[in-house]
Amino acid sequence: MSILVYIDHFAGAGKPASWETLGKARELADTLGDSVIGLVIGHQVRPLAAEAITYGADRVLVADDPALATFQAHAYAAALKAAIAEAGPRIILAPATTGARDVAALAAGELGIGLAADCQDLALDGDHNLLAVRPVFSGNIIATEVFAQQPQMATVRGRSFPLPESDPARTGEIKDLVVDLAAVAGWEEVLGFETTQTGEVSVETANIIVSGGRGVKGPEGFEPLRELAQVLGAAVGASRAAVDAGWIPYPAQVGQTGKTVRPDLYVACGISGAIQHLAGMTNSKVIVAINKDKDAPIFNVAQYGIVGDLFEIVPALTRAFRARLGQ
Ligand SMILES: Cc1cc2nc3c(=O)[nH]c(=O)nc-3n(C[C@H](O)[C@H](O)[C@H](O)COP(=O)(O)OP(=O)(O)OC[C@H]3O[C@@H](n4cnc5c(N)ncnc54)[C@H](O)[C@@H]3O)c2cc1C
Repeated sequence: MSILVYIDHFAGAGKPASWETLGKARELADTLGDSVIGLVIGHQVRPLAAEAITYGADRVLVADDPALATFQAHAYAAALKAAIAEAGPRIILAPATTGARDVAALAAGELGIGLAADCQDLALDGDHNLLAVRPVFSGNIIATEVFAQQPQMATVRGRSFPLPESDPARTGEIKDLVVDLAAVAGWEEVLGFETTQTGEVSVETANIIVSGGRGVKGPEGFEPLRELAQVLGAAVGASRAAVDAGWIPYPAQVGQTGKTVRPDLYVACGISGAIQHLAGMTNSKVIVAINKDKDAPIFNVAQYGIVGDLFEIVPALTRAFRARLGQ
């Protein structure tokens, strides 16, 4: 048996969430005695297939076609369906990235496969069935879902699992996958791509995040946080309250309806610690909370808590780190 993993990428660069999902698939497959089969879709994407082997795939199916050069949900779903037919997997995993979650849902719907979307953890029960852990009811409940039949399919939130080590010495097989695209030809047309690059470090990839909430009191309240972030080489994150108020753009939002992050250090400034915010950041290695309310729930998950006014504490931290780092 096998576990099939959809490898999402942009212009041939694998998304970290793809490798994280592949790493988890490797772990599950080792328990099951299964092989891991990767699926790469695009044009001239064989190098990505070779990379997937270094991250743990035993075999990689490559759907390579000029018609697949840019992302198109229905064409990519046709390729995923072809891969499922070819591999006959017991489990199918995809990262819960914008494109992959679309493709997974389309293929699952068309093939009548049960799909657990947006999982934050995966495990196996005693009968080797997949257990999919995901937030439901606005994140107020974390449910463990089981499947009634095989194959069992799940999409996985980025940063739910650590990035596996790439091993250039690993070997595996790369095989072309023939996909009949005639049925979906012309269904979608890509007019262009726009990037949201702001020049700032992204919360999704940052090792350190300095995050602000309603306690920063306005857009200008993020300035001291940006200064601290700059000294630390960190990204600036935010609670939904700050994003909804229009103080900082949505890509910075951490939490259930924002990004899941897993940095080495997460500094929460003026964030109360609502369950929906915690859902996105409790896997951080070290959490520092700065809040003037000593009873704020964020202190329950923080290793270090500073009770006080962030407008005094954050600039003091910036000065101290500048001195310490010789900046
Ligand atoms: C379906 C759903 C999805 C959601 N998704 C998300 C999500 O993805 N991410 C998210 O964050 N939230 C999300 N929320 C909202 C969440 O429930 C909270 O409302 C939100 O996280 C609160 O943001 P906050 O902590 O910044 O604000 P508040 O809860 O108002 O907390 C502000 C904190 O700042 C402190 N403070 C004030 N002034 C200072 C100061 N000068 N110095 C230090 N501390 C100070 C206060 O003591 C307080 O603890 C969601 C809610 C729902 C219903």
